[in-house]
Amino acid sequence: MKKEQRKTNKVLLHACCGICSGYPIEFLLENQYLPVVYFYNPNIQPVNDYIKRLDSERILCEHYGVELIEDVYEPDVFEEYIKGLETEPERGKRCDKCFELRLSRTAVKAKELGIDVFTSSIAISPHKLYNHLKEIGERIANEQNLKFMAVDFKKKDGFLKTNKIANDLGLYRQNYCGCKYSFRN
Ligand code: SF4
Repeated sequence: MKKEQRKTNKVLLHACCGICSGYPIEFLLENQYLPVVYFYNPNIQPVNDYIKRLDSERILCEHYGVELIEDVYEPDVFEEYIKGLETEPERGKRCDKCFELRLSRTAVKAKELGIDVFTSSIAISPHKLYNHLKEIGERIANEQNLKFMAVDFKKKDGFLKTNKIANDLGLYRQNYCGCKYSFRN
């Protein structure tokens, strides 16, 4: 595909962190898409960890020469959104709401930017349920008249590949998912 064509093939990639989004960026570039990376993760606590993850995302995007859009950090919005689900286990209802919040905002941003397709790096982790992410992403896309790019990035060794990219770049490696409830676990 010609370079001019590729420029029109934009995908808004919601990035949950630097570790998880390396392979999805490579995948999109290799498949002639132009990723625009979107960082909206109000679930992450504490703020120090949020900053470290955002810094990693900056390093990653600079490495690949792709645009990074940094949205606001609003943990209160997350807490309100998942209220009543604090004690849910990982992969449970709290995580579905967490996906929904982040993907909804990604869809709004895609509309704002005039990008028709969005996706997310969230489910590259073996701890995340891809079928839940897909269902939520497709529902939101339908509501917004957009397309959700349903790719299970963990397939074809995606998780191994994304870890290798992160290691090669020396990215910060967290040992919990993101919210304070996963931190406690
Ligand atoms: S465990 Fe992870 S996906 Fe689930 S609510 Fe917490 S931050 Fe979100």
